[in-house]
Formats: sequence, structure tokens, C-alpha cells
Amino acid sequence: MDSQSLEQTYAFEVFPKRDLTIVRGEGAALFDDQGNQYIDCTAGVGVANIGHANPVLAKAISDQAATLITCPGVFYNDVRARLMEKLVQIAPSGIEHVFLCNSGTEANEAAIKFARHTTGRSGFVSAMRGFHGRTLGALSATHKYRDQFEPLVPGFSFVPYNKIEKLESAINEDTAAVILEPVQGEGGVRPGDARYFAQAQALCRERGALLIMDEVQTGFGRTGAMFASSSLGLAPDLICLAKGIAGGVPMGAVLTSGRVNADIGMHGTTFGGNALAAAAALASIGYIEDHDLCAEAKRKGDRFAAALRGINSTRVREVRQVGLMVGIELKEKVKPHLLALMDKGVLALPAGATVLRLLPPLTISDAQLDAVVDAIRELLST
Ligand code: PLP
Repeated sequence: MDSQSLEQTYAFEVFPKRDLTIVRGEGAALFDDQGNQYIDCTAGVGVANIGHANPVLAKAISDQAATLITCPGVFYNDVRARLMEKLVQIAPSGIEHVFLCNSGTEANEAAIKFARHTTGRSGFVSAMRGFHGRTLGALSATHKYRDQFEPLVPGFSFVPYNKIEKLESAINEDTAAVILEPVQGEGGVRPGDARYFAQAQALCRERGALLIMDEVQTGFGRTGAMFASSSLGLAPDLICLAKGIAGGVPMGAVLTSGRVNADIGMHGTTFGGNALAAAAALASIGYIEDHDLCAEAKRKGDRFAAALRGINSTRVREVRQVGLMVGIELKEKVKPHLLALMDKGVLALPAGATVLRLLPPLTISDAQLDAVVDAIRELLST
């Protein structure tokens, strides 16, 4: 059987599939099993920030695999130690400690527990259209995808994003933390205002609640800075990370400020902080720094968005962009356009029903981005 038939037969299928079998990647290009080439504006949903099959990452993984793959948290490990130091060095101000896990949802799950533990409070406030993951704790902080799984964790409430007066009335004496994305990704590529976040942080401090910034999608150069919280001038109490952290090797992390308390035994993980993922993360972060990919993401993203805004189409409502996190909000459903783009050799993502989302590797070339603009222009001008 071919790959598609095998997956159709054996997968416990929860993904809306596209008719394409990807077998290889190189930089911002992906290749299917027929040898066709695509420009990848998905990057594994914002993961492959340093490009596919990056040789520096491949070597780090291979060297580490031949040295040590796994090492439980009860022992010290050289690579994990260096990664933790690196994460604190590149983090926004105030970050002191690191908890390593394996995914974005796990990072949020841990942050929720750490916030309850630290404050002795049980409540959380998060934003409508926000997305924090699919395990039950992170899903409780997520506005969508929840109905069929209720009852979820009690104590979560939702406010409209970017409206400080709504947040102000939602934070009370039982609020352990406010959880926000700096740019709502799954919710449609919606950037929050710097002023909103500054006020949100001040409100949290004033009322004894913690601020959790979910940078799972925005971290590691995606928005044109290593972390969006830094460009917003924030000093969050907790920062959740995953996706681009290790170039595609599964890893998540929670960065914590001195205001967050740990206790031996309060949380744990088998795979979190394993030496293989830690080596991959060190290599990926090193690559982002050495190749100035944060500045590159800003430069390329601004140029890309300007070109997209120049497309003359009645189908487009708005182009939103921060770095190489780009959303084109359409006045119609996005799905047929995603399929048509695929036929033109460009892979892109939806964000909700009407937003075309583009999250290319930060290593993508200007020529590849120009080709994406041409493909989108052809598509939307018709
Ligand atoms: N938080 C945000 C902001 C995300 O964008 C995502 C995934 O898209 C998650 C959390 C969940 O991450 P994961 O799929 O690694 O569990």
C-alpha cells in the first residue's frame, strides 16, 4: 500500500488531511513523493524556524544521538545544563529558572500548575480566540475546541483580547494568573497592543496574580525578536515555549521569574529535558543567533507584508503581520484557497475559517517569498 492508504487504514485520524505526501525538506522547500517541490509557508506549524534538514542541526542531533539520548531529571546532564543557561540568557528580563518538557500544551499545563502552587489561588483569565493547547488544563485556558470535552478544569474565564477594561474586571482575589499570547496565532494572527500588555502586567502585579505569556508560536525569532515579550518590554512571571525551540525535535519549556516557586516533586516528566532534544535546542538557538534570524525575520516579514498589502483584491479584508507571522484575513472561506495554493506550489495554513496564515522558515529567501506573493496574487485577483 502507498503511504496515504496506509495512514488512511491505520491512523486514529483527527487531522483534516490534504492530498499530499511529504517525504523530504531542504531549507524552505518541501518535496512530495512524486518529486514535486513546494515553498513551505507552514514550517511544521511554526516549528522549522531554521529551515528543514538544516545541516548544523542534523549534525548536533547525530553527534548527541551517538553520545547520550536520554537522562532523567534526577541526574545532572551537561547539555541540559548549558541549554538552561542559554534560555535564561536570551529570555526577557526577570527570568531565572527553566522547566523543560516536550510540547506547547505541556508547557502551558505546567505553567498552570506552577501558578496555582505559587499563589495558592485557583483562577485563570485568558483571552477569547486564544489557543494554548489540547490537553485538559491547556484546553481549559483555550476558548475553542472545548465544548465536547466538558467538564474541564474549573476556574477559567475568558475576556476579549486587547481590551484592558474587560481584563481589569475579570481579575479577582482568586486569580492565580492571566494567560495571553503576544500575537494570537491559531486565533487569526492578531497582534496585541504594547500598551495593553503593559497594563495587563501592571494589573497582575497590583492584584497578586501572575502573568503567563504563551510564546509557543511567537518564540525563537518568529516575530522578529527572540521573544515577543522582550519587544513588548514585558517581564512576565512565566513564559511558555515550544515549536521553534529545537528546530523540530519535540521540546517545550516554561521560563519562570523569581516570583514563581518550585517544590521538589510538584511536577515531573520522563522525556522533558532529554539530552537529544537539549542538543537540538542549543544548535537551533545558536543558528538563530549566528545567522541573525530575528532581524532577518523582521526585514523579510515587513517586505513580504508590504508586497501582500499591494495585492489588489476585493477578497482581502486585512493583512496582519509581525515578523514572519503573517495572516491574510479574507472575506470568504480560506480552505479552497489553501488547496489552490498547493496546486501552485505553496503550502500555507488556515487560522480559523477565513484567515490564510503564513509561517515560513525564517531562512526563507526573498526570491521564495516573492514567488509566494505572485502565487497569492494570481489566486486572489481572479
Ligand atoms: N500555545 C500556542 C500559542 C500554540 O500556538 C500552540 C500550538 O499551536 C500550543 C500552545 C500547543 O502546542 P503543542 O501543539 O506543541 O501542544
